[in-house]
Amino acid sequence: MTELAYLADMPSAYVRTFRARIVSLPPGGVVLDRTFFYPAGGGQPGDRGTVRLDDGTEVAVVDVTRSGPSVLHRVRAPPAAVRALGVGAEVEGTLDWERRHRHMRLHTAQHLLSARVFVRTRLKTRKAVLAGRGATIDLEGPLPAGLERELADDLASVVGEDRSVTILLVPRSEWDREPNAERSGLVPLPPRVDPVRVVEIDRSDVCPCGGTHVRSTGEIGHVTVEPAVPRPDGGSRLTVTLDGSGPPTRSE
Ligand SMILES: [Zn+2]
Repeated sequence: MTELAYLADMPSAYVRTFRARIVSLPPGGVVLDRTFFYPAGGGQPGDRGTVRLDDGTEVAVVDVTRSGPSVLHRVRAPPAAVRALGVGAEVEGTLDWERRHRHMRLHTAQHLLSARVFVRTRLKTRKAVLAGRGATIDLEGPLPAGLERELADDLASVVGEDRSVTILLVPRSEWDREPNAERSGLVPLPPRVDPVRVVEIDRSDVCPCGGTHVRSTGEIGHVTVEPAVPRPDGGSRLTVTLDGSGPPTRSE
């Protein structure tokens, strides 16, 4: 079992280096007692980085996935380095921060875009996927022609206002009290989820999510909204991409 330490609160999403203990070593991977590496899921890719023993032995983390209650860090290194890992050993994990922070910027941009599409068209998001410098959202219907420009302006203004992003843990009973609340997402919340982890973008969006986000919208930087593409299922796909290298980031 791995503690998902990145989930706890907003500062936890900014931890780049952490201490943990190896609890098991399945073939090709390392399971830690706690991790700040994000395991692939919910449309957000898994993190990369390194795991280092106190003697300096270092292995590259090439992918991170959920495996039941555990998180599997898939590693790549010379056989001698992998053999040096032992159950019970303390290690230092270090995230590939450029990649992770890009995913945080994209994820918050995606929530904003889904919210703005919903406000303007009542279309909900069926699915969202982040990859590279872009995030795609699959909408339940066709986007009215020419709306991309207005959506891009909406995003630019929210980014310019640097609105705060907060993580809230809401008891399920409280969340379910508003069954008709207007939400931009179509994916139903599994019944076992309690409390509900909610990402709130000030005056813009409230959305249940287990991903990692930036703490204020200014950190997203400038984005481009690509023309919507019709999908065979009658829906449409909208892509938002990050421009340039992005703003400088602060760390805890
Ligand atoms: Zn999300």
